[in-house]
Amino acid sequence: MKTNADVIIIGGGIIGCSTAYYLAKKGKSVIVLEKSKVFGYGGSGRNGGGVRQSGRDKRELPLAMYGVKNLWPNLSEELGTNVEYYQHGNLRLGKTDKHIEILKGLTATAVDQGLDVRMISGEEVREICPHLSDEVIGASWCPTDGHANPLQATLAYHNRARQLGVCFLTGQNVLSLKMVAGELRQVVTSDGVFEADRIILAAGFDSRPISQSVGVDVPMKPIGLDTLITDAQPPMFYQMLGTAMADFYGHQTTHGSFVFGGGSPNSITSTAEQTPIEGTSATCRGILGYIPALKHAKVVRSWVGIIDMCEDKVPVLSKVKDVPGLILGCGLSGHGFGIAPAVGTVLSELACDETPSIDISGLGYERFAGRT
Ligand SMILES: Cc1cc2nc3c(=O)[nH]c(=O)nc-3n(C[C@H](O)[C@H](O)[C@H](O)COP(=O)(O)OP(=O)(O)OC[C@H]3O[C@@H](n4cnc5c(N)ncnc54)[C@H](O)[C@@H]3O)c2cc1C
Repeated sequence: MKTNADVIIIGGGIIGCSTAYYLAKKGKSVIVLEKSKVFGYGGSGRNGGGVRQSGRDKRELPLAMYGVKNLWPNLSEELGTNVEYYQHGNLRLGKTDKHIEILKGLTATAVDQGLDVRMISGEEVREICPHLSDEVIGASWCPTDGHANPLQATLAYHNRARQLGVCFLTGQNVLSLKMVAGELRQVVTSDGVFEADRIILAAGFDSRPISQSVGVDVPMKPIGLDTLITDAQPPMFYQMLGTAMADFYGHQTTHGSFVFGGGSPNSITSTAEQTPIEGTSATCRGILGYIPALKHAKVVRSWVGIIDMCEDKVPVLSKVKDVPGLILGCGLSGHGFGIAPAVGTVLSELACDETPSIDISGLGYERFAGRT
């Protein structure tokens, strides 16, 4: 088994797999260590597929905008797999005056940040998507947002990276990190010790206990989110939908099913737990209030995914001054899929000691400096 490389990546989700791909393109030797038996088993295979710039914190908006402009449009071609990327826009819907006020506030913030997003009337909403209820009186509209297939995208990165020589190892439960002569060099797993010049930590919430072994603590916690999928429907629309009150979000997939995420985080912290049925029912009632055309659709499956919610709700993409060799790629806070190609790009640049080509100055670990 290969145990040495230029770079070791811990975690085989979309962040680990995309970073591995961009590093392999730069000619680096890479080992990816994944705890489970498959890749994309964490949030990356369970998410709602939104590729959204609207509603982003200004510190991560540059990643979202860069990805939508430069990476997502050619990703299927580049990776040789259809990642089912649709750039048909994002409608965030409102039914009441209070909703419209909330949407106006979000729109004003996004416009200030240079994003093409605007308020539209209920009639304009139904011109874009005729299946929406007459109760919708307005929406924010970001025409360059979209969605993609999370598992396809994750596995596409994995497959392409493997073709470029990346060594992917499953069943490797990373237990701790070890410094050697003042530099981080070793990764200790349940199977043995691996060694590299740079170690990228992209293990979702589990990054926290792993980094604590070298005195680094990213303040984040695990939170469960619900998702459901319907049986296949005739082609209806390919916009991404959300609501002012964030009751649900979702889209129709290439094969016809609708995937919807429930709005509120729940107290579940493990994927072994079940979504409470009342929660799924409430999400369905909310959806039908906006898309009555789905009244005969059947929910065929629902599942829980765990997010790594950072204290200030944006990722940590960063070297760590006191632990040379460590690069953090965690705390994606429930919106890491859409920015994953851009995150993989900057993490690969950090690992090669290059200046990041996208502004990540607000996402450093040093923002938590001075904590006890
Ligand atoms: C229900 C849900 C809906 C979402 N919807 C969206 C959306 O619409 N748009 C969006 O942009 N984002 C969305 N997200 C967030 C998105 O899925 C994540 O931000 C993204 O997938 C993070 O990728 P990751 O690779 O960091 O984490 P993960 O995919 O969780 O991967 C981490 C990997 O590390 C592995 N690992 C953990 N511990 C260890 C260890 N000790 N040793 C080795 N390996 C380990 C895990 O097994 C896992 O494979 C959603 C998330 C959920 C759960």
